[in-house]
Amino acid sequence: MSKSLKTVRTVKELRKHVAKWRADGKSMALVPTMGALHDGHLGLVKLAKKKADKAIVSIFVNPTQFAPTEDLSRYPRDEAGDLQKLESVDADLVWAPDVAEMYPEGFSTAIAPGSAAEGLEGAIRPHHFGGVATVCCKLFSQVTPDIAIFGEKDYQQLIVLRQMVRDLNLPLKLIGAPTRRAKDGLALSSRNAYLSEAERAIAPELHAALAALSAEVGSGADIAAGIANAKVRLLTVGFASVDYIEVRDAETLQPIERADGRPLRILAAVRLGKTRLIDNVSAG
Ligand code: AMP
Repeated sequence: MSKSLKTVRTVKELRKHVAKWRADGKSMALVPTMGALHDGHLGLVKLAKKKADKAIVSIFVNPTQFAPTEDLSRYPRDEAGDLQKLESVDADLVWAPDVAEMYPEGFSTAIAPGSAAEGLEGAIRPHHFGGVATVCCKLFSQVTPDIAIFGEKDYQQLIVLRQMVRDLNLPLKLIGAPTRRAKDGLALSSRNAYLSEAERAIAPELHAALAALSAEVGSGADIAAGIANAKVRLLTVGFASVDYIEVRDAETLQPIERADGRPLRILAAVRLGKTRLIDNVSAG
């Protein structure tokens, strides 16, 4: 197990480490997280170790991406456990600022993401991607990584951030990594910890329904009918509600009328008891 994992909590201290590694000619990959780490996150860190000399993991539960009605205060936190897990995958540095370090008194600048943030999560959580884009822009300029790695689990987030990096000429490469799943198909998520045993047994139906819809779309079936069937299937097995299931252009996330050979993405958000789950799969 690595003995060299450091946790830094101020921008000043972070910059010292980064400057030293730069001077030594080391490349750096950043994996932004909100902690409560699971194997999905650890997979991103392993990828970071493959792609760069140093893997930096940020842990910051970003208040500005939660609406007042959302689960900020009950979002799971376990820093000691996170640090152990990060040591086990040989991360090189943990960047764990507190809220006052990230948003000091008087902070008043924000990124306004473009069209990729419209609809889907953006429709249900109007301020979410502004908060995500602003904190990621800050993380990128604090850490100055060569690479930043994000999971396809949060597919719309990945596309919004790609657009931000492109639009603002941010000097880093953004890499998307496939979603890690439990054996039964449920996408690993910190929020799965909220599920009761009975809900956990139902939860894999989300991926099963999306996989079935993907196969239908791939074979040219009517998209609207497929989506309607998938919604009925989920409500029948016990999901409380379906916020959305949509088929979109995989690169731009623009809505599509029909499958025409270009890569598509099926994205969904559902509620199971009190827990909100999101997932997505490729199609077309
Ligand atoms: P979070 O802390 O859950 O906001 O996620 C931090 C990063 O981990 C984001 O880039 C997520 O997309 C990614 N991530 C979360 N769950 C998974 C998963 N099951 N597989 C791959 N990446 C994931």
